[in-house]
Amino acid sequence: MADKKLDIVPLSGWGMFTDPQPSVVAGPCSAESEEQVMETAKGLKELGINVFRAGIWKPRTHPGCFEGIGVPGLKWLQRVQKEYGLKVATEVASEKHVAECLKHGVDMVWIGARTTANPFLVQEIADALKGTDIPVLVKNPVNPDLELWIGALERLSRAGIRKLGVIHRGFSTFDKIKYRNDPHWDIALEMRSRYPELPFFTDPSHLGGSRDYILEISQRSLDLGFEGLMIESHCNPQVALSDSKQQLTPEQLKDLLHNQIVVRKSDSDSKEWRENIDQLRAKIDVIDESIIYSLGSRLKISRQIGEYKKNNNVAIVQAVRWDALMAKAIAIGNEYGLPEKFLTDVFNAIHEASVEAQNEIISGKSSEQ
Ligand code: PEP
Ligand code: MN
Repeated sequence: MADKKLDIVPLSGWGMFTDPQPSVVAGPCSAESEEQVMETAKGLKELGINVFRAGIWKPRTHPGCFEGIGVPGLKWLQRVQKEYGLKVATEVASEKHVAECLKHGVDMVWIGARTTANPFLVQEIADALKGTDIPVLVKNPVNPDLELWIGALERLSRAGIRKLGVIHRGFSTFDKIKYRNDPHWDIALEMRSRYPELPFFTDPSHLGGSRDYILEISQRSLDLGFEGLMIESHCNPQVALSDSKQQLTPEQLKDLLHNQIVVRKSDSDSKEWRENIDQLRAKIDVIDESIIYSLGSRLKISRQIGEYKKNNNVAIVQAVRWDALMAKAIAIGNEYGLPEKFLTDVFNAIHEASVEAQNEIISGKSSEQ
């Protein structure tokens, strides 16, 4: 199904982000006190940040944790606007939140990961935003479901929101991984290729869950061509009431943005660079074609095996054969410097397609072609 284009105002037309890249939204996970908000905003203003974030209503996993300061915090955000000239942004999860934000002149809102996963709430928010032109960023849903993420964008777009963007913050997983959330860059890249016009932010704080990973995730995001970052920053992270491990002080954020992150040009005008990159890309195209050809040939043989199994009444999956094939692929791949996880993922996908093709043959839905 072809995606319907979204009617999007580019980031440069939002009146909040100025060059140079990346566009950064920074501020504490939660607004905790007037002093904490003002001190953090002051530090961020000094390092050149234009858009200040602070959670006013906090979706916490367990009850009894700090669940946000609520409406009084919106007055602190108004002080941030007035005294430091910063634009302010917060998370909304209901019609009531939207109404309070509009009433208090919040400049931008975002929809959190738990809310994006709930179409009822997204629709309620979209309805409440109708008729405004406030920018809205939509975090990916907690579960790795691209369509659900797109569905949320469609609801907002139908409500007339044109200053629309996304935030990649990773996906919940039960697996033990290095980061708090699974990056699934493949989903982020698929979103980018379906909606190249959509402003794209990455949230390395929530994705990584630790300040130690903020640099590497930010760098990866910029290298993939995503233009924005949302980073949690607190004047004293150690005592933060939520997400204390993943926030940087404004000083640390300054060092990250000004000294550590490398902003690469998306392209270069030099003739020599053009010729070299064109040649390398041409080689990649040839290799990709041969990969596709090989995959096609493999599937064809797989179907022949399916016929043969059918005629001999043999089950499709023989685990021993597959384990041996995988072990061999990993051993050979090792010699070519291919990471084990990559090979496992590739071969599992190949295996899945092959089992599906044989299944169709055995169940009589298809014959060898
Ligand atoms: C947040 O940005 O503070 C937040 C709660 O994020 P997420 O929705 O990504 O968990
Ligand atoms: Mn947070």
